[in-house]
Amino acid sequence: MTQTPQPFQRLTIIGLGLIGASISYAARQHGAAETVVGYDASADVRRRAVELGLGDIAETVADAVRDADFVVLAVPVGAVGGVAEAIGPHLTAGAIVSDTGSVKESILRDVAPHLPEGVHLVPSHPVAGTEFSGPEAGFATLFEKRWCILTPAEGTDAAAVARVAAFWRALGSKTETMDAAHHDRVLAITSHLPHLIAYNIVRTAEDLETVTESEVFKYSAGGFRDFTRIAASDPVMWRDVFLNNKDAVLEMLGRFTEDLSALQRAIRWGDAETLEALFRRTRDIRRGIIEAGQDEPEHLKKS
Ligand code: NAP
Repeated sequence: MTQTPQPFQRLTIIGLGLIGASISYAARQHGAAETVVGYDASADVRRRAVELGLGDIAETVADAVRDADFVVLAVPVGAVGGVAEAIGPHLTAGAIVSDTGSVKESILRDVAPHLPEGVHLVPSHPVAGTEFSGPEAGFATLFEKRWCILTPAEGTDAAAVARVAAFWRALGSKTETMDAAHHDRVLAITSHLPHLIAYNIVRTAEDLETVTESEVFKYSAGGFRDFTRIAASDPVMWRDVFLNNKDAVLEMLGRFTEDLSALQRAIRWGDAETLEALFRRTRDIRRGIIEAGQDEPEHLKKS
């Protein structure tokens, strides 16, 4: 199979935050689309997008998608249904619609009903991001060497799926296709639960009566500091992730709570062997992630 079918003629990106802006930069840098059109619900974001040169910025969602052969929804997961409803009547036959949402079953549920016959839906999730949001946070290399997971429904046009996969590969990503429900379970443990834990631990530290706020800032070495970075992630985006991946997150949270109780017991009973064996296993997992090229050792990172 060829790696790069022909680039898209007219790519429309709806939602010009971190992900949408990064797609705009990367698509133009790699020639993955001839024209890039952008739209955001916020007039202020549209103005900033013009200043940043994120493409031809449309004033209405209908103008944005007119004649587009590829439309990417880069809005919070809870907003995709409304956007799909608004663009549906203006889409061109044969166009491909994709998204970037961190939850995938809800995308099929909320977007598919609004798309006219002959328009293909190929949901995608670039597993790449930062804790920053807004158009100024975007950069062209965000997707390089990162996975992008495609979750088309059964029976989706194979050529449309191949074109979307080729698009992400042109932006530097590695692609994988899987069932939306499986995606949501995998991401519940690898991304959603870690964020929930980060939000909660920062809240717990904030609530501690015996530790002052200045001490939390002053002594936030290593562990806690890393949690605060994750807990600074966009509130609206993460609200929508938990509202839309409820079952998988609750299942993983149940398992996590059981394992935490086992650790609590090991500490209470002074079970050194259990603690050390676990910490050795988890260190191996960290090494595996580095060997897989999905992160680099802290001492090699730029500050
Ligand atoms: P973001 O920086 O907050 O950008 C989202 C943009 O969409 C904002 O400018 C927002 O405007 C706009 N928007 C909201 N509702 C809209 C609507 N109905 N029509 C048009 N524009 C609308 O968020 P992001 O980080 O780019 O995330 C976008 C999507 O990518 C989310 O679905 C998220 O789950 C997914 N994702 C994020 C990451 C990450 O690390 N951030 C990674 C992978 C995937 P307002 O600010 O005015 O509401």
